[in-house]
Formats: sequence, C-alpha cells, structure tokens
Amino acid sequence: MSVNYISTRGGSQPIGFSDAVMTGLARDGGLFLPDHIPDVSSRLSGWASLDYVSLAAEILNDFVDIREDVLNDLLQKSYADFDHSEITPTVQVGDLHILELFHGPTLAFKDLALQFLGRVFEHLLDSRTGLLNIVGATSGDTGSAAIYGVRGRDRIRIFVMHPNGRISPAQERQMTTVLDPNVYNLGIEGTFDDCQRILKELFADLAFKDEHMLGSVNSINWARVLSQIVYYFYSGLQVMTKTGADRVDFSVPTGNFGDIFAGYLAARMGLPIGRLVLATNENDILCRFFTTGIYRRGEVAPTLSPSMDIQVASNFERYLYYQQDENADRVRDMMNRFAQGEDIRVSPQEDGSIDGLIVAGRGTRQDTLQTIRDIHRQHGYLLDPHTAVGVHVAQANRRSGVPMICLATAHPAKFADAIEQAVGEDLAHHPSLDALEGAPTRKTVLPAQLDAVRDFIAEAVSRRESS
Ligand SMILES: *Cc1c(COP(=O)(O)O)cnc(C)c1O
Repeated sequence: MSVNYISTRGGSQPIGFSDAVMTGLARDGGLFLPDHIPDVSSRLSGWASLDYVSLAAEILNDFVDIREDVLNDLLQKSYADFDHSEITPTVQVGDLHILELFHGPTLAFKDLALQFLGRVFEHLLDSRTGLLNIVGATSGDTGSAAIYGVRGRDRIRIFVMHPNGRISPAQERQMTTVLDPNVYNLGIEGTFDDCQRILKELFADLAFKDEHMLGSVNSINWARVLSQIVYYFYSGLQVMTKTGADRVDFSVPTGNFGDIFAGYLAARMGLPIGRLVLATNENDILCRFFTTGIYRRGEVAPTLSPSMDIQVASNFERYLYYQQDENADRVRDMMNRFAQGEDIRVSPQEDGSIDGLIVAGRGTRQDTLQTIRDIHRQHGYLLDPHTAVGVHVAQANRRSGVPMICLATAHPAKFADAIEQAVGEDLAHHPSLDALEGAPTRKTVLPAQLDAVRDFIAEAVSRRESS
C-alpha cells in the first residue's frame, strides 16, 4: 500500500508525495506526514550489505509516487558529487562511532537532503508547466546547500536572502561564488529575523506566490526529512554488524528538529534504536521540553554552533503529532495556543520521561570548546562545534553494551574560528573551501523591506522569461 500524506492539523485530504513536496506547507498550516509508517523490520538483514544509494532506493520507494527506475536515477545523481565512496561513512573515534555527514558539496549534512530535493524538483517540473522560483532565508548552512542543490538547472531559479555582513566569511563565499545565472544571492541590510519576516510575508501574499510559482526549500519540506532517514539505517546496520550489538544509540546535534525526527521515524519503521540523544546548545527549548514537558519560547542567543541557534523548532509539530497519539485536533489546538504566546505542556509518562526513546541534554560554549580540544588531543580527530555539542551530550549518556553513534553534521573547516579557539591553532581546512578564497562573487544588497525583495524577484523573473 503506497503512502499518502496528511496534515498534522487534520485539515487536508491525503495527497501523494509529489504534491506534498511541491506544496511544502499544508493548506491548514500544518506539516505533511505519511498516513502510515511502513514496517521494514523483516527486511533489515538483507539491507546491511547494500551501498548507500541502493539502500536509499529501498527505503524511499515505499514513500514516493515516483517510478522505481526514475527514483534510482535521481538518487544516483544526488549523491554522485560526494567526496567519499560511502557517502556517509562511520568512523570509530575512541569508544564513539562518528557518522560523517559532511562529504557533500557544501560540507554540511543539509547536502544529503537538498541535493535530493533539487533533483526531485527538477523531475517534477518535467511533468508540469512553468518554472519554479525558490525563495529562502539563511543564517548560514541551508542557503549554500540549497544553492548547490539547484545551481545550473534550467527551470528553477533560487533567491536566497542572508543578513548582509552577518554570516561567516566562509559561508558567504560558499554562496556568492556560485555564478550560475539561476542563482540570486540577496544580502539583506538587517538581521536573520528580518530575512525570515520578509520570507513569511512573501509567502503570505498568495497572489504573488501563485503568479510567480514560489517554492520553498526550508526544513519543513517532507522530502528533506525523508531523505535523512537513510543514513540512520546505513550507519546503524553497519555498526551493529561490526560490533555484534542488537541495537544502537544515536546522538544528534539539534536545532529545527528535522535531523533527529528522521531518526525517530527510522525507529518507528523498525530500526533497533535504543535511544536518541537530543543535544542542544544554550538555545535549549527542546532540551527543556524533553526534560520537563513544557515547550516555551526563549530568546535566541548567539553561540559557536550557529545552525542550532533557533527559538522555535519548525519540525517539532511533526513529533507532537505522534506524541499526541496522532490526534490532529489536539495538535491544531496546541499549535494555535502556542502561536498566541501560550506554552505547550505534555504530561510525563509513568517512568517520569517525556518519551522513552529520547533523552536530552545541552552543551555550553565552554563544553563545546573543551570537547573539541579533548577529542583532538586524545584521538587526533577534529569535531566541528555542532558535532562537539552532540559528542558532549553523548558522553554523558553512554551505556555499556549499546554502541553510540554521533552524527557529525558539518566539516570543521566551515567553523575554523571555533576550532582555532579550541585547539589554539588554525588546523581546520578543506580544499574546496580554500579554493573559494579570492574567487569572483556576486550578490545584490537590498534594504530589509518586503517591497524591495518582491520587486527584485518580479523583475528577475520577467527578465529571464523574455530572454
Ligand atoms: C542545520 C544544522 C543542524 C541542526 O539540524 P536540525 O535538523 O535543524 O535539527 C546541526 N548542525 C549543523 C551543522 C547544521 O547545519
């Protein structure tokens, strides 16, 4: 039985994968989820020997309405540019297993999802008329991964806003050195919040959105979550085979709850996961929720792990749906109250936990630097600051007999300043980043105003349609 997609808020008829991907957010404001989760536990033994792309095809096939041979082809192309033959290799560092998710073109785990999403968009446009204009806002990693996912595609344009002068030089170079004509980098004279506000306003203008075929690549897109399920299976099966263990724990550096939610789904599909360790930095709304049951906004504080500096986790609603026993009415009610400033509260289970599968912890700036320093000194291995938060919390939650797999979400060279602070030397480099230094760049600086961005997009769209 093939999977259809429903809204977490219950107000949408079931639709297929393709429509869910093109739509992004459900009409009722909810997020798309599969109407049932396939149980794959009887197939696991045959999956342990598959290469990454073959495993991805096995897993995704149940969830999509794309022909199997086409899906295979999309996956092959999505992961062809990774610089490691295993795509997501797992390496042993002391008694931890590090799952390296940074071998894609922009050196962060978001490439796993956005390379695939770019190919899916291109494929879906083949059977539809018109062009897709992707608009996004980034504080760093998402923008470059999204740009690399669609650069050079004929029928897709991408407009990415970033707070001008407020992202790291390496992150800015990764985006602005892409000179393909379908890529527009917009340096907004304001903060990341300004960029997000403008993005929201653009998408709220339904007439403009429909007329200009606006599409989104943000982390609520179902295809992003789906493609991230694969590496939990890939690494988990590998580590169980290697160690003889019957289950594994995962530690996940968490911001918007997209990555760890993919692990949650993997567990529900039948991968023997003992625990998911949710690690946050000082922006710890999710850590507080999983220890107290109260989901309450805080102020965003800048940290050494900026891709986890979030106030409200956009994928949390998907988790809440299962936490509330798939009761969409309750989810809708909770989310509406939360939007009005109230807290979300859930009761602990009998053992006092909020969820038996998820344990949460946080790592401060000091913990981050210390962990990078210790792991480097003891094992000669460099962690990026996001991964270091995950490793810090993983170490506090080690259990004998259960291997711990720590997701490494970025290459340390993307955050070379933090590495230098931690180890006292400028050790983190990557040839693809070094090569961008001094390369020609292109961006357009715009004031932090909806009109300015809307006019720019409208003009760029009409210019290319008439050329
Ligand atoms: C986006 C990101 C995260 C957080 O992932 P979520 O899916 O938002 O929880 C962690 N580390 C890095 C390097 C990232 O880019």
